[in-house]
Amino acid sequence: MDTHAVVNQATALGDYNAFDSDPVLAAAAAREGAPWVAPQAATFGAAVGSRHVQELAYLANRHVPELLTHDAYGHRVDEVRYHPAYHELMALAFGAGVHSLAWTAPERGGHVARGVLSYLWNQAENGVGCPTGMAYAAIPMLRSSPRLADSWGARLAACGYEPGLRPVATKTCITLGMTLTEKQAGSDLRASTTRARRAGGADDDEYLLTGHKWFCSAPMSDGFFVIAQADAGPTLFLVPRVLEDGSRNRFFIQMLKDKCGNRSNASSSVEFDDSYAIRVSDEGRGIARAMEDAHYTRLDFAIGSAGLMRQAFAQALHYVRGRSAFGRAIAEQPLMQNVLADLAVESEAMLTLTLRIARAFDEAEDHASAAQLRRVGPPLVKYFVCKMAPAFAAEALECMGGNGYIENHPLARLYREAPLNCIWEGSSNMVCLDVLRALDRDEALLDTLLGEMRAARGADARLDAAVDALPDAMGQLDDLPFNARWLCERIVRLWQAALLVQYARPEVADTFVATRLGGARGTHFGAMHGHFPSACILDGALPM
Ligand SMILES: Cc1cc2nc3c(=O)[nH]c(=O)nc-3n(C[C@H](O)[C@H](O)[C@H](O)COP(=O)(O)OP(=O)(O)OC[C@H]3O[C@@H](n4cnc5c(N)ncnc54)[C@H](O)[C@@H]3O)c2cc1C
Repeated sequence: MDTHAVVNQATALGDYNAFDSDPVLAAAAAREGAPWVAPQAATFGAAVGSRHVQELAYLANRHVPELLTHDAYGHRVDEVRYHPAYHELMALAFGAGVHSLAWTAPERGGHVARGVLSYLWNQAENGVGCPTGMAYAAIPMLRSSPRLADSWGARLAACGYEPGLRPVATKTCITLGMTLTEKQAGSDLRASTTRARRAGGADDDEYLLTGHKWFCSAPMSDGFFVIAQADAGPTLFLVPRVLEDGSRNRFFIQMLKDKCGNRSNASSSVEFDDSYAIRVSDEGRGIARAMEDAHYTRLDFAIGSAGLMRQAFAQALHYVRGRSAFGRAIAEQPLMQNVLADLAVESEAMLTLTLRIARAFDEAEDHASAAQLRRVGPPLVKYFVCKMAPAFAAEALECMGGNGYIENHPLARLYREAPLNCIWEGSSNMVCLDVLRALDRDEALLDTLLGEMRAARGADARLDAAVDALPDAMGQLDDLPFNARWLCERIVRLWQAALLVQYARPEVADTFVATRLGGARGTHFGAMHGHFPSACILDGALPM
């Protein structure tokens, strides 16, 4: 129709390489000890940025999973049916080792390298980020169990995806979920009511569980880590979905949740009724064992939120570069440059810190200070990075005007996804309290953190002064739980500043210090005040 000429609409950001177009990511991977991941990351980055994967992500979130409780003849089956796009996405992510490269890497730097893949993957689709994150954390736990290392651990670490409910021994690769949250107890797992009793067979690590879990994501996984009360207290178990003889374990899916985002990934409520389980922790040590695992998922979800922010930023910048208003590209309008440069600096700071903490995982066996950072780093970034994601996604969405709010642009999905990483694996308050616990139990930890910040000493007087002021400021906090978020934010901002001053382009580091430490910024994105080299910041963040 003559009336319907389409002019001045931006093109889609499709068929681009999410790794090659991100010089900050390549530099961080090399600096933090995994330069060798670059070729693999470049191949994966091309897949992640392809129109095909973008379409799969759209379809998998549009056509949500369906629960099939019974078959046509009335037999209970407890299966979830997914759109084929979800299976293809799972095959891509698990095939590339997003879940396992840390544990299978041919050389040092495996956690950083896996972090790079996860950062890229979370730019493509976040629902699959749930099973990949759980697998990353579960592999070391399975490997530490003589009974489960070869059977479950090796198969979970394998690259590949084999859906379908069959005995684990008949599969080459598997997936694994973690279901801990009950109706009355999410943060406080000690209040779990699911009961465990010994099965009475020859093996003293075999139990029967009865109870429920209120949240159980990826319920078609081959098995689940579950907390239940044994005689000596909360204990961690592995519950297989299919038993060795091929029969189904007693695992009943009650419903699928109708979620705000993360819609490709089924999240369910389940019941156990004398369900077969293998004990993984000592009796009464289940929560401590599960918390060891949580460091991995917390790191991974922070990396995931950083990836989500990067994708939101890339989409927004590409869009405003391709659309004009008031006579020139929106990207060149001064106030929009303030918004975009602010987003770019934030995104770079998030990536830089999360990969620095991933390196601490690679070095924790050899250096005591790395072990300290491995302990405190995940809750710090889980709080701060994940917490920043919703505001960041909302701002990026607005850069695209009305189109940003429409479901067939990826920003709408990213926006609905963004709050989730704040909630699971320890919600914001819980991880901030965990940082306090870590500082309280290790008196030398604060010095190690200050050492990270002082590594940049002499490069920026504003940063030096802010770091020097931290111990006094902490000393004045007489009610620490009340002030825990403030403290975590301060530590993160100083650590990020120190890293950027050492490694980022000067215009990025200077803008960060001026606006995040020096007060040259209001509350929202785009409220930096002063003069900042925004065009230069943006050209370096996402080359045209
Ligand atoms: C989409 C989705 C998928 C999920 N999948 C899984 C899964 O697969 N497996 C699983 O086990 N769980 C899963 N969860 C559950 C999730 O881990 C919990 O919701 C989360 O741990 C919080 O528990 P809760 O909902 O019971 O909140 P509550 O424990 O009731 O907490 C409510 C609020 O109070 C705060 N709070 C609690 N105690 C304190 C305190 N002492 N001081 C200050 N603040 C406090 C919390 O931070 C939170 O903000 C999923 C959740 C979602 C949304």
